[in-house]
This record gives sequence, C-alpha cells and structure tokens, in this order.
Amino acid sequence: MVVTVDGPAGSGKSSASRLLARKLGFAFLDTGALYRAIALAAQWDDMPDQGEAKLAAWLRKVPLEAISQDGSFLVLLGGQDVEPYIRNEAISQLASRLSALAPVREHLLGLQRAAGRDGDLVAEGRDMGTVVFPQAEAKFFLTAGEQERARRRWLELKQSGQQIEMADVLADLRQRDQRDSERSLSPLRPATDAVVLDTTPLSLAEVVDTLAKKVRERRTSAPR
Ligand code: C5P
Repeated sequence: MVVTVDGPAGSGKSSASRLLARKLGFAFLDTGALYRAIALAAQWDDMPDQGEAKLAAWLRKVPLEAISQDGSFLVLLGGQDVEPYIRNEAISQLASRLSALAPVREHLLGLQRAAGRDGDLVAEGRDMGTVVFPQAEAKFFLTAGEQERARRRWLELKQSGQQIEMADVLADLRQRDQRDSERSLSPLRPATDAVVLDTTPLSLAEVVDTLAKKVRERRTSAPR
C-alpha cells in the first residue's frame, strides 16, 4: 500500500509522515531530500545555468541514490549521507528553483516510483498524490496557517543550531510556496481524491493519529 502526504513547507508533513510510517510499519520516503540533494550536487559542482540538454546530461552523472535503511530511505550522494548538508535556507531556495525544471523532475520520477515498488510506503512531498503515485490507496494534503508554518520552520532551524530571523523564514517560505504552486510542472496542489487536513490547531501526535486512523479505514474497506 502507498500512502502519499503532500503540502507546503512547514505544514508538518515531514514529521507527521515519518511518525506515521513508523506507526504503520511502512517505509518512509522524504522526496524533498532528493530535490535538496540535487541542489547540493549543483552547489558542489558549481553548476551554471546552461539550458535543459546540459542539465539532463549533468543529472545523469550525479551519483544520487536512495537506499532503504531501518524503515527510511537514506539519500546518498557519491555514497555519502547528504542529511547534514541539505537543511539550510540556501539549499531550500536552490532546490525550489531546480525543482521547477523538467529534466530534474523527470530524473527523479523513476527513483521515487522504485521506492514504492516493494512493499508499503509513506511518500512525502509536493506531487506524490498527483503525479508520482496517482494510484496511491490513501492520499493526504496537509496545510497550516502561514505564521504557524513559519514558526515551525524557524523552530526546526533553531534546533539544528542555525540563527535566523523569523521574518526571513517567513519571506523564504512565501517565496518557495509561490514558486512551488505556480510552476507549470507538478505544481503544489491537492490531488482531487486527497483528504485535506489543516494542522494549525493540532499537535503532531494528533495529526499522526488522524492520518493513521484514515489509513486503517482505507485498508479495511479496500478490496483485497
Ligand atoms: O519538502 P522540502 O521543503 O524538503 O522540499 C524542498 C523543495 O523541493 C520544495 O520547496 C520543492 O520546490 C521541491 N520539491 C518538489 N517536489 C517534491 C518534493 C520537494 O518540487 N515532491
């Protein structure tokens, strides 16, 4: 069974999806980490904007992998775990810019779908329910008020030791949301059959419980 969780930055989808996967005993795939890893590779290679053909050729040489480990997909570049390098605002912005380009989205499609091939998966991102896993058995779209999303993101950055003003986090969030929602390819929007959940008034535990309950309902009602 594939469960998709989409939504804007700070909607709580990453934390909720990770815990949901653990609760259900499903694997977990954070697709934002794949886009962030491409941005990191572009930063490392100092890749200039050179048009789509050159971008596609460059992408084929990026040594990107997603390997399943302890219930989560670990994203590696050249065999190295990218996690310590991808959670900062420069990478957020570059990932958002690159993710609007067709060669990048096409390149990551196969990798994402492969993760859903063997067994149960919770996949989290922007276009999981609409493009990557349109046949998913349970789809969610999480939202939250803008100020609350900025506060959550600010807390996350602070906890990871980054000093940043709330106003700057809010500005970054607005810019990314606008770009992610207005791009022509796989724009951020709920699938027509997604359950939309406003997480503003909910604790993380409440969000996870709500999602888990709905997945279980789907499981029991789905034809086998
Ligand atoms: O979810 P996260 O903030 O880590 O994603 C970083 C960026 O990657 C997003 O702002 C978005 O532009 C892009 N992304 C995407 N499609 C996905 C996941 C992420 O376009 N499925």
